[in-house]
Amino acid sequence: MDISATMVPHRLARLFSAARFALVYFASLTFGLLLSRFDRGVAVVWIAGAVLFVQLVVTPRRRWPDVGMTAVACAAAAIWWFGFGPLAALPLALISVGEAWAAAWVVKRIYPRFGRLQSIDEVVRFLLVAGLLVPALCAAPAAWVIHWVAGLPVMRAWGDWFGAHALGFIAFSPPLLLARQGEARHWLQSASARLKREAMLLLGLVALASLLTFGQNVVPLVLLPLIVMVATTLRLGRFGAMASVIILMTVGLIGTSAGFGPTMLLHVSTWLRYEVLQGYFASVVLVVLPLSAELVARQRLLERVQAAEALHRLIIERSSDVIIRVKYDGTVSFASPSLVRLWGYLPEEVVGRSVFELVHPRDAPRVRASRRSLMDTKDAMIAAEFRILRKNRSELWVEGSTRAVLDHQGRVNGTLTLIRDISGRREMIDNLPHLAMTDPLTGLANRRVFDLDLAKGLASGQSGCLALFDLDHFKQINDLHGRAIGDQVIRTFAQVLRESVRSGDNAVRLDGEEFAVVLFGARIEDARQICERIVARFAATRDFPAGAPVLHATVSAGLARFDPGSSPEAVMTAADTALYHAKSDGRNRLAVAA
Ligand code: GH3
Ligand code: MG
Ligand code: MG
Repeated sequence: MDISATMVPHRLARLFSAARFALVYFASLTFGLLLSRFDRGVAVVWIAGAVLFVQLVVTPRRRWPDVGMTAVACAAAAIWWFGFGPLAALPLALISVGEAWAAAWVVKRIYPRFGRLQSIDEVVRFLLVAGLLVPALCAAPAAWVIHWVAGLPVMRAWGDWFGAHALGFIAFSPPLLLARQGEARHWLQSASARLKREAMLLLGLVALASLLTFGQNVVPLVLLPLIVMVATTLRLGRFGAMASVIILMTVGLIGTSAGFGPTMLLHVSTWLRYEVLQGYFASVVLVVLPLSAELVARQRLLERVQAAEALHRLIIERSSDVIIRVKYDGTVSFASPSLVRLWGYLPEEVVGRSVFELVHPRDAPRVRASRRSLMDTKDAMIAAEFRILRKNRSELWVEGSTRAVLDHQGRVNGTLTLIRDISGRREMIDNLPHLAMTDPLTGLANRRVFDLDLAKGLASGQSGCLALFDLDHFKQINDLHGRAIGDQVIRTFAQVLRESVRSGDNAVRLDGEEFAVVLFGARIEDARQICERIVARFAATRDFPAGAPVLHATVSAGLARFDPGSSPEAVMTAADTALYHAKSDGRNRLAVAA
């Protein structure tokens, strides 16, 4: 990238804006010194302070020294030629520039985002600093210099300086600031044609009221412009406030300097007349500026409320959870549309009824108590699980999260509850013990149950028989027909097993295609018959799922008896050895341990 090509226009633009500032600042100084300085005293209409203050506010801090130096040069020249002469030029220039500098610095310090005059807080801080504190302090050294070069009494010089400068800051900074920030341009870009026409009319009325007030010196109509300006501010916001203040000031200054307007009715010195005029401008600004700040704040609040409302509506309409608002006394004041899915009631059927009628009678006292404690303690939120009573009298487990709703004085005036269907989760919890003991594929008991039962039976001194089963050539079935068919075969064998043993004899899926049955109290002969029946039945089964190939699945079994005092391991080994023999003897048969 060619740096010089971009740097040059950048520098030029900076130089241009510095020159423009110097020109405007010098003009405002000249205006104040030439047109509003009476009896060789202090200039009364002091726009220059506001011009410099605004320039500093909109300039980054690192460029303040440039602005400051330009300003001191302009001010010194203006004071030398049009003001108190060469002796006072430098000290008064330094004090004037220092004053605007201090005001801008302090305001930015205590309100870092200062500049848009959007809140009352911002406006009040500005008024305290630039309209009171800083001019009062700077008036002291200035009064001393003026006393020294022009012989004015110190107190009078102090008062004149303070009045002129404080009012100058208050009256001229806000409109200049908003103008500098493109307030008018923003407004023009965003306003509709209708609003623009309305603006022309209202600002025309402001001009007319100002002309009526400052174009004659018979009737003092000081309130007339204010009324029109308040109306304009209410309709057009900050832009209206700024534009009408500028119109009023322009008309007022021209009218007064031409010898018209309400100040002519005062029989006072010209100086005081201008001080009164500037005071009038400052009061107008003090009325319309906070008003427009308040309007902006309200507009933002309204936008936030509307956004919150849209979110609120979206949640209520789209959520499968139910939202219920309950008054302090427990009657339902609102229920979201999803109520019908959970309860079977339409929202309008429950509004006005007691919310506890919607809760299962067995849980209602608990729900009532927890709601009570929430409202008493103003806890942030409570969550509870309880059953609801539906329209068809069935019950359903839900989880309710409740918050207290406060009125404008911070007292609890009801509750808001979000209700979620947790019947699925609840069912799972209720079934958890069962799930932990069951094999999911066949529904038979699992190895955990088998181990516990066998150990318990043996420990309690029971005798009986243990049969182990292992499907034959199962790998082949899987390989030839796929695992899904393999699973079907496992399920079919489980069914055969279940049908062949007494309910008290525990049929268990041990693992994969291995099963066991513990026949407590059975004699070996009876057990052998049962097992042979199982082997034969399974071999004869053709009851495989539709679409499955014709299968010839068989099973081998090993049987061992046990006596009180046998160890579980020994019993297992004996049955396993028998099973091994059944396999090696050709499968599809039962072998009994010796
Ligand atoms: P044998 O007659 O000697 O028992 O032969 P086999 O092929 O049945 O041999 P073995 O008992 O060692 O093989 C068990 C096979 O069962 C291995 C494994 O892939 C399969 N298997 C284990 N669990 C499952 C299951 O849950 N579903 C299916 N489809 N197959 C399983
Ligand atoms: Mg096996
Ligand atoms: Mg096998």
